[in-house]
Amino acid sequence: MLMKYERQQIVDYCKKMTVDHLTSGTGGNISIFDPLTGFMAISPSGINYFETKQEDIVIMTLDGQIVEGKRRPSSEHNLHIALYKKKIDISSIVHTHSMYGIVLSTLNLPIKAVDYILADAGATEVPVAPYATFGTEELAQSVANTIGEGRACLMANHGMVTCGKDIESAYNLARECEWIAEIQWRAMAVGVPNIIDDTEMRNVMQRFNDYGQPHNRKEVVYD
Ligand code: 13P
Ligand code: ZN
Repeated sequence: MLMKYERQQIVDYCKKMTVDHLTSGTGGNISIFDPLTGFMAISPSGINYFETKQEDIVIMTLDGQIVEGKRRPSSEHNLHIALYKKKIDISSIVHTHSMYGIVLSTLNLPIKAVDYILADAGATEVPVAPYATFGTEELAQSVANTIGEGRACLMANHGMVTCGKDIESAYNLARECEWIAEIQWRAMAVGVPNIIDDTEMRNVMQRFNDYGQPHNRKEVVYD
């Protein structure tokens, strides 16, 4: 079985996406891309996340050919393919149907820098891709043409898509963007939220590069 580990990650994160209220029903989809083989593992179309098993995950090339799998791949496989072709430094994509992101998308409002954490998206805002029918090449191109320098994009009247170097990073960004979208919506309900300016957001992006524990430092072992 190809990409066994990645298949299990997709199964686990698809369940998590529902538990964390980032989607409902069979909305949304998740993929992992292996740049060494050129294979993409992607969730199947329309199967209950709590019944999805490793063997239901579909392995494809970025030409859209199925390499392994008996199920139909996610109807959004062209969206995932378009983003892997566009952003060469990403290895996972998460598409959610999360409430507050969709609310803002129906108003054609990008997620703004109402909270500094938005810098994690690698851009000063999360743009809204114009509406196109789900599962179409038109939607794939709409998102690919709109996402810009960042790792997140809203899909008008539909949902959100986030990318990352691995599934954890793509998934965490989806949670963060949804959380910030909720803050923006709540603030807009009572007034006009202050937006952090672009210069400060670039500053935060820089600081995020060195946030937390130093990378590559050998772990200190105490005896
Ligand atoms: P799939 O079940 O085919 O992945 O579709 C869900 C979805 O979110 C379509 O945009
Ligand atoms: Zn969708």
